[in-house]
Amino acid sequence: MLTCPDCAAEVSDAASACPACGKPMGRGGPVHTLLRIVGLLFGIPSLIFLALVLYWRMTELLLYGFVAVLLSAAVFYIGESRARAARRR
Ligand SMILES: [Zn+2]
Repeated sequence: MLTCPDCAAEVSDAASACPACGKPMGRGGPVHTLLRIVGLLFGIPSLIFLALVLYWRMTELLLYGFVAVLLSAAVFYIGESRARAARRR
């Protein structure tokens, strides 16, 4: 959930405008949202994986853990920066 900057109403993450006052929330398009969701869906398990790899000292899997975390962070960042760029327009 997001908070509307104008009227402080709770707005769904998927909503393109505030239902209370109609202020456009300037969310990125569905592609940006999808990128962020994919980034989070992969990022969180990747972080857990990396933590377990470090905990169990499975150095041969360390590279995969880092790559997975970096990839999902990159996907999330692309979605986030695209959404931010779309908001400025
Ligand atoms: Zn509002």
